[in-house]
Parts: sequence; C-alpha cells; structure tokens
Amino acid sequence: KSSLVQKKVVILGGGESGTGAAILAKSKGFDVFLSDRGQLNQKYIDILHRENIPFEQGIHSESRVLESDLIIKSPGIPDTVPLIIAVKEKGIPVISEIEFASRYTSAKLIAITGSNGKTTTTLLTYHLLKNAGLNVGLAGNIGDSFAWQVAEKQFDYYVLEISSFQLDNIEDFHPQIAVLLNITPDHLDRYGYNFQNYIDSKFNIVRNQTTADHLIYFEDSEVIAAELSKRNIDSQKIKISLANKLSEGAYLDEQKLISNAANGTFEQNFEELPIKGPHNAINALAAISVAQLLGVSSEKISEGLKSFTNAPHRLEEVEVIDGVTYINDSKATNVDSVFYALGSFERPIVLIAGGVDKGNDYSQIEALVRNKVKALIVLSKDSDKLESYFFGIVPQIYITQDVQDAVNKAQEWSIAGDIVLLSPACASFDLFKNYEDRGEKFKAAVRNLTSQK
Ligand code: ADP
Repeated sequence: KSSLVQKKVVILGGGESGTGAAILAKSKGFDVFLSDRGQLNQKYIDILHRENIPFEQGIHSESRVLESDLIIKSPGIPDTVPLIIAVKEKGIPVISEIEFASRYTSAKLIAITGSNGKTTTTLLTYHLLKNAGLNVGLAGNIGDSFAWQVAEKQFDYYVLEISSFQLDNIEDFHPQIAVLLNITPDHLDRYGYNFQNYIDSKFNIVRNQTTADHLIYFEDSEVIAAELSKRNIDSQKIKISLANKLSEGAYLDEQKLISNAANGTFEQNFEELPIKGPHNAINALAAISVAQLLGVSSEKISEGLKSFTNAPHRLEEVEVIDGVTYINDSKATNVDSVFYALGSFERPIVLIAGGVDKGNDYSQIEALVRNKVKALIVLSKDSDKLESYFFGIVPQIYITQDVQDAVNKAQEWSIAGDIVLLSPACASFDLFKNYEDRGEKFKAAVRNLTSQK
C-alpha cells in the first residue's frame, strides 16, 4: 500500500479519550479530524490548537465523517445513531480508543471488565503492581486516556478498566491477562434490551486471547459459567470464588483470602484490610491473582492490600450522626451493586435510591429489601417504577427530587444503630451531572444535618 497518502481518521467525541486518540493518531502520521456534537472542554480545545489538530464542535459534519478511512468513536455514542449506521454502511471501520491505542504499544495489558467492581479492582490491581515496583500505567475507563499515555509514555504494563461500550468496538485488542468479575443486567438500553448482546460484548475481552494468555473469572457467576461452557476459549483460566474452596485459584475461606497460584499460595486475613464487604473480597481475589501471575511476592501483595484506599462514592462512610451511619454508594448505578451494598450491612437500612432506570429488574434485591430496608426514599424525577415495585414490600416510602429533603427524611426515619444508604440502582443524570455530583451533593446534605439530641 502506498504510504504517500495520509490515512484520514475522524475521532467522534472530544473528551479525555477522544483528545488522547487524536494526539496518538497525529503522532502516528494520520490526517486527524476531531468532531464533537457537544461543547469541548476548554482544556482540550487548548491542546488541540497547540497540536494543530483540526476539530469541530456542536455538530458532526456528515460529509467529512464519511470521507474518513477510520473512525475512533467515543464509548458514549451508541452504534444505533444514524451517523454511525451511515459510516458502517460505507464500510468504514469503527473502533474504540482502547483498540486504537493497543495497536501502538507493546506493553503487557491487564484488562478488567464486569458489570460491577471494575474501578475498584482496576485501582487495586494497579496499586499492587506499582507498590511492587513494576513500571505500570493505569488507563481505560479511568483517569488519563490510554491513547494519550501510549503516545507519550513508556510503560511495561497497563492496567485497563474496560467497559462494555469499549469492547463493542474492538478488533485486535489483546490483553495478556483478562479479568471478568461478573455479568449482570446493565445498560440494556444500549443493547436492544437483550441481555445476550451485553454478555457477548463483555466476552470480547477474551476474543483475541491465545493459550499463552490468562482469563481470571468469578466462577460463582452463573452467567459467566454458562457462557464458558458454550464457548471455546483458548485462554488459561483462573477461577475466583466465594462459594468454593479451590485447589487451583483464589477463594475466601471464612475471613481469609487464599490464592493457590502456579508459583505458590498466598494468604491474607480479609478483616485486616481497609476494603470491606463480600464484593470487595471478589475484587481483592482478582487483583491478587493478577499480581501472582506477574510474579509479585506475597509480602508485597499483602503490603499493597493494606495500604490501598478505594475511590470515593463506593460504600463510602460519610458521617455518624446520633448513632446513624450515613453511607454514600452513589456509584451503585445498577441493581447488582445495590444487592452487594445491602448485603454488606447487618443493621436496619434506610435506603435512598432512584434516578434513571436502565431497564432494571428489582426482583434480585426484593428479598434483601424486605428483610433489611425499613424505609425507602425515592430520589428521582420519575419515581413510578421503584415506588410501585416496592409498594407493600417496604413499610414506608417517600418521594422527592431534592437531595437535602431526602437526607432530612432519612434522618427523621432512622434511629441509633441504623444505616442510611444512598445506593441508587440507577444512573444519575435526571437530577445530577453524574454519579460523582450525586455523591458530593449527598455528602454535603449529610454534613448539613445537625444532631437531633
Ligand atoms: P464499576 O467501575 O464496575 O462501576 P466500582 O468498583 O466503581 O465498579 O463499584 C461500583 C459499585 O458496585 C459499588 O458501589 C459497589 O458497591 C458495587 N461493587 C463493587 N464490586 C462489586 C462486585 N465485585 N460485584 C458486585 N458489586 C460490586
């Protein structure tokens, strides 16, 4: 092929990952154009100017998009919008930033996916490897753009948080270690309300793995187990479990994390660690398994587990007021994460939930809610589904669109020893900018409370 003609790449979406992809594409000699239908952040505008990368905002000029040889699409743009359909009809390849970046690095990739626990497991894995002295980067759905780092840095390893949207548009993406934490219904609005489509997307994580690579997975997940029995996957498999003691693999025995890897056994008392709850035992077992595969010593793994602090908005304790503990779990944007949140407490719970429902089925948490939730506060623009589902199951339900009002009501309805838990099961953008904004406003509302005693 002639290399005299520059290949045209159009980047759709100019956030962190789009801007990063533009920088990498430019450095690799592509003719780059970035297009964002919304408004770009000034920080990215300045960078695009400085790098001499042409861009547009407020519109996607279809003619220009359809002239390109390659599209790098932001994970926020569904495949079903007319522009993407037109692009595909023309046969122009559409890939994700993850796919594009992975083409230009020889670093070993550790890719972590699942419906829940991605961020925690990614941060913890990164922390364990970095603490052990490995030259490791952190990217994906988190922090700085993968492509940007590939353009500017030299890492031996990357720990990548990978969402299903990023996996929808991969071709050759090939992690040496893949981690699959769980698959439970989420984002069904983007998958034609068909759970299998979402499962297929998640399994793209192993699509290009060979017998030299590893898949670490949670074997208690019935969905994952069923899929693995249907598919022929070449990867070497490493199991993690809460339910079974594994002679090969990693599990929780009473309160002990145990991992039997090829190069030895690791043991650590889970109660000594700062992360709590059964879901975090799963996440820790996954991170430990990765570290062992990469030859990190047991001492270093223990040290890293003990010094880890998780990102905020994940079962984050905010305050104890009059004996009531207020917990911010704003990141719980689907039903499964609320299932684990409710399972993390043995005390009566006043639950604050609601937001944008992504096709939720609440039957998974019905029994837990019946047993543990003494009152439900629906914080939502459209409260109908939650309210009607739990009507008659929860003794008291209150509906509001105001976070302070929700927190005030929670205080009124709780007594010493209770938990007030914000764990919404829904996306946040009906009343908030994002889950961080929801969590921050919840925390501020809690801090506005005064003791009633
Ligand atoms: P993600 O990045 O996949 O959204 P996070 O680590 O940010 O995952 O956690 C999101 C929410 O899911 C948290 O609020 C937590 O309560 C719950 N959670 C974390 N790990 C797991 C897990 N392994 N299984 C189920 N739920 C989990």
